[in-house]
Amino acid sequence: AKREEMEFAGNTPNAVEAIAEKHLVQPWPVSETIGAEARGFIESGDGIYVTDAEGRRLIDGPAGMWCVNVGHRNKELSQVMYDQAMALSYNSPWYTTNEPSALLAERLAGHAPEGVGHVFYTTGGSSAVETALRFMQFYNNVRGRPEKKLIVSREGAYHGSTYLAASMNGRPRDHDWMDSAKEQVIKLSCPNPFRRPKGMTLEAYTDFLIEEFRATIEKVGADRIGAFIGEPVMASGGVIVPPPGYLPRMRALCAEHEILFIADEVVTAFGRLGHVFASKEVFGIEPDMITFAKGVTSGYFPLGGVMIRSKLFEDLRQSNHNDAMFAHGLTYSSHPIGCAVALKNLDILEDGLLAETRAISDHFQSRLKALEELPLVGEVRGLGLMAGIECVADHVSNNPLTLDLEVGKRIDRHCQALGLLVRPLINMCVMSPPLTINRDQIDTMAEILHKSIALTQDELVREGLW
Ligand code: PMP
Repeated sequence: AKREEMEFAGNTPNAVEAIAEKHLVQPWPVSETIGAEARGFIESGDGIYVTDAEGRRLIDGPAGMWCVNVGHRNKELSQVMYDQAMALSYNSPWYTTNEPSALLAERLAGHAPEGVGHVFYTTGGSSAVETALRFMQFYNNVRGRPEKKLIVSREGAYHGSTYLAASMNGRPRDHDWMDSAKEQVIKLSCPNPFRRPKGMTLEAYTDFLIEEFRATIEKVGADRIGAFIGEPVMASGGVIVPPPGYLPRMRALCAEHEILFIADEVVTAFGRLGHVFASKEVFGIEPDMITFAKGVTSGYFPLGGVMIRSKLFEDLRQSNHNDAMFAHGLTYSSHPIGCAVALKNLDILEDGLLAETRAISDHFQSRLKALEELPLVGEVRGLGLMAGIECVADHVSNNPLTLDLEVGKRIDRHCQALGLLVRPLINMCVMSPPLTINRDQIDTMAEILHKSIALTQDELVREGLW
């Protein structure tokens, strides 16, 4: 059907779902339904809400995929996309430069830690991570140390779906049926305080994690390790906030051994933790590279990038290979529309939304933390406007629930009936609403979650499963 021939009201969402089921391959499908999967139709969005096929208005709890930071249906962002397309919709980033990408680069450098003054634009998070890792390889090749290229990542990490980036992922399901560049990766433990050995203090746990990295460097050899990559707060791994002191100490070890520290801020940047970049402001670290995407355009346009420490370019210029090309670029690097949207998005963040996010974060965290009184909830953790609610078998053992209970999905179903979209993650629910959410809306969200988790508990008991 032609789009204008379809009525986007009444019964037509079913038609859309049927067409999708017949022709669309959705991301992260399972083989049983690949190419034939029905997923819920979202008709429209407005502020913190989306409207589904039945016309129900739901709070967008995960802000799409942690990305709709300024909320849906923002007029300024929509207008700037139109205006930029009418002025210049595209130019070759290989031969030419456009104004929005240059202005944005200057603004981003102003927010990044001192000395991290350059940016390479990509189309999203995976391509940003891919760029950072390939740049590390290039850097060490040109500097005459081609063996210094192993990459240290962590269990539970998510860094993307292109080959090298995906090779850094640390959740089992990312590797069960997929190939990866295993030989290039070293995995460390997930820094998850909730799952630390019983009886171990937080300080001892941090020491253990740091010692693991130190011993790995010693065993493998610093001359073979090119980079460490980590999300400051692991997002899809379950909103894992590392123990205090962990990130600065990891950063110091990297500096000591000339291992490039890559902070993957695809989720944590652009306001999610109340700052444009969280590395320095929230965690006190100054990475060599910072990858970003998602919130940079609030999801209105696909854009990502890597902030790069400018000294790395000086190092390259001091090498003996001045003709070596970093043969890496994307047709849509420095896209004028993406960069124009990002500039306006940054205006909105700087003109109050960052400060508002910082001001409302405690309320968000404490309202969700209160869910721990429910027997099914083992821990609620988070930072800024991101939180994870982890369900457990019981409060004494805190053991994980078996996967077949699908607790996350059950909670999501109840939440949706009550007006809230959540992101189910096995035994967890992840919340990262648009930053424009207000106190009352946070209260509503927490109340819906409370009711839905209580209903899920009753349901599990009734079915004899818990
Ligand atoms: N890094 C992190 C930390 C992410 O959360 C994601 C996406 N969820 C990515 C990278 C990949 O980004 P994209 O999906 O835009 O390629």
